[in-house]
Amino acid sequence: MITDQSQDAWTLFLDFVQERCSATEYANWFAPIQVRECHAEKIVLEVPNIFVQEYLLENYKKELKNFLPLNTAGELAIEFAITEARKKQQTEKKTVEAPLQEAPQETCQLNPFYTFENFIEGPSNQFVKSAAAGVAMRPGRSYNPLFIHGGVGLGKTHLLHGIGHYVKQHHKKLRIHSITTEGFINDLVDNLRNKTLDKMKRFYRSLDVLLVDDIQFLQNRMNFEEEFCNTFESLIHQNKQIVITSDKPPGQLRLSERLIARMEWGLVANIGIPDLETRVAILQHKAEQKGIRIPQKVAFFIAEHIYHNVRQLEGAINRLCAYCRMMGLDVTEETVERSLSELFQLSPSKKVSVDNIMKSVATIFEVKVSDLRSDSRSKDVAFPRQVAMYLAKELINDSLAKLSSSFGGKTHSTLLHAWKKISGKLEKDEILRRQIEMARRNLEA
Ligand code: ADP
Ligand code: MG
Repeated sequence: MITDQSQDAWTLFLDFVQERCSATEYANWFAPIQVRECHAEKIVLEVPNIFVQEYLLENYKKELKNFLPLNTAGELAIEFAITEARKKQQTEKKTVEAPLQEAPQETCQLNPFYTFENFIEGPSNQFVKSAAAGVAMRPGRSYNPLFIHGGVGLGKTHLLHGIGHYVKQHHKKLRIHSITTEGFINDLVDNLRNKTLDKMKRFYRSLDVLLVDDIQFLQNRMNFEEEFCNTFESLIHQNKQIVITSDKPPGQLRLSERLIARMEWGLVANIGIPDLETRVAILQHKAEQKGIRIPQKVAFFIAEHIYHNVRQLEGAINRLCAYCRMMGLDVTEETVERSLSELFQLSPSKKVSVDNIMKSVATIFEVKVSDLRSDSRSKDVAFPRQVAMYLAKELINDSLAKLSSSFGGKTHSTLLHAWKKISGKLEKDEILRRQIEMARRNLEA
């Protein structure tokens, strides 16, 4: 039942949002949402896929609360229904007359934003992006399988879905399916329970393109691994395209030798942490999508401070947007500094001490803490000391003078020099980046 009053609430919310976001953001994320049911106590929204639901809740929860029904606990009384379910029912009915070959496109859930056009290239991801584009243009005829690996939040899923979008658009006849490894396992469990395993096998083995996200979740799942491996082999032998993402290269996965060997058959490509310029370009692109303009100097400032992964960078933009929207302010250096300093305060910098940093760095670089405090200029000690200084400046909110005195009375320019040197090296040195990340994780644990 849709009452006029509550439907109005949704319309009012849309009016509110439309004024504040870009046309692209509105078209991608809001326009496809339908109100399925609406009462004073609850609203049921129909969304085309889970990503739209997550986007809405992640970015607009506060605003939604101002417009839509709340429960007694003061939480949003929204339920989401995925449109897909309805479409599926319809296609299932249709399959009586329609041949099986036409069904699968609806089964391919892709984040509408994860397209090749929205993927910013830089030295860290150019290779893997061209491999992905090659596969999308000529599925089954370039690299097969394509195996993409890299750390969290670096764009693996984005590229995987990018391939999906391209194939859907340019090879309309091909049967494509995109699934997370967990989704595959769930599918398998359901079909085993319902005794419909044959149907599932037929479905997977009739695909032209299979996109599998986060294969690391197949580790330690022996029974499922075998079925996955069979599906994999059956597709590859028919020259059907497989693309897999993972947080590690195949050889480091705890999977059977057989499956690892299969995954190494095609092309294994790594996606790295983007360098500063690429981070700035990504930041500007994301800001544009949200309809805000960020001065270049400010973009550099943000990108210099957030370098672990792109998802964090996006988090900063979201925060900045929310802050400016709530306060009714433009993005200026001042607002950015204010909202960012809030973000930095959220990092657990207060608990971290120079002592802890020294201990952590000493362990990783296999030196003594007393050496780090000493005046020794031997390279084996001087370099880890600079790393410790870098971390101190990054993680502790104290004056340079105070921090440098904790390093056996060094001057603040020594500390600043160390910070600059390590920051510069971090851009190019993957091993150092890992070491520092490890130290950070130890400290923040
Ligand atoms: P992963 O799967 O590697 O953990 P995702 O693909 O989910 O990472 O990416 C995290 C976020 O960062 C997504 O919103 C994605 O759009 C964005 N992102 C990552 N790399 C890029 C890039 N090169 N250009 C634009 N956006 C990117
Ligand atoms: Mg992912």
